Amino acid sequence: MIIGKPLLSTEEIQKRVRQLAEEITEDYQDRELLAVGILRGAFMFFADLVRHIRVPLKVDFIVASSYVKTETTGEVKIHCDLREDVRGKDVLLVEDIVDTGLTLSLIRKKILEKGPSSLKVCAFLDKRERRVVDVPIDYRGFVIPNEFVVGYGLDYEDQYRNLPYISIFKKSI
Ligand code: 5GP
Repeated sequence: MIIGKPLLSTEEIQKRVRQLAEEITEDYQDRELLAVGILRGAFMFFADLVRHIRVPLKVDFIVASSYVKTETTGEVKIHCDLREDVRGKDVLLVEDIVDTGLTLSLIRKKILEKGPSSLKVCAFLDKRERRVVDVPIDYRGFVIPNEFVVGYGLDYEDQYRNLPYISIFKKSI
């Protein structure tokens, strides 16, 4: 397998993450936020994002999966649900990448059923041309082309999550 040159460098990522955190801080002034990370892919983005958000904040996590190797299964599995009661809370869902939109759409629906006072979405990457279901993204890191990417929390068979940048992943034949 080949990891190409970074599509997004560490510096570009860190700059954009700080900008997103500033936007979120402005929008949630005088409110308390419940930031919900979608694991495992969002762990690095989530940690970087929340450390720059300057409003009172709690964290929680959902574990979901839909990909096998580089292909979506089209079926989203939720392995572990929220611990926090979201009723009446301002919830910010933090996702690594929106591809078909199926994962986010299902998780949004599940959280909305629990009656939060608001629900917004922050997605690090948006593979817009692959979208199958329309799902609102309130805070977006980068729009990327239709390529399978790894790094900064994103994996191929659970490898490469620790890379501090995003690279296009190509399988060698
Ligand atoms: P969706 O349900 O929007 O099709 O897919 C969302 C999930 O698929 C993401 O949370 C991520 O785990 C995985 N995914 C989608 N595209 C990529 C990609 O390019 N690279 C990696 N590593 N995972 C991806």
